[in-house]
Amino acid sequence: MSFRNISYFIFSLNRCSIGICYEGRLDADGKPSDTRTMEQRVALLELLWKLHRLFPQALVVGHRELPGVKKACPCFDCEEYREVFH
Ligand SMILES: [Zn+2]
Repeated sequence: MSFRNISYFIFSLNRCSIGICYEGRLDADGKPSDTRTMEQRVALLELLWKLHRLFPQALVVGHRELPGVKKACPCFDCEEYREVFH
């Protein structure tokens, strides 16, 4: 796991955050929807555990929760992960 590349999620936080991306989909109406597969759920949880061990003070925050962001991602409530890691 390398943290050398600076991501481009939100300008003011790019140097002090780690962006996690997963491939999502739309629902039948073409709207962003929580389409995580069980494999994605397991992989995300495993990754968050690894990152939590490296950065125990880090917060789990959804992209859409950051100030000034007008995106739907992730298409699930990050609260479920905050309950585990905070
Ligand atoms: Zn995003």
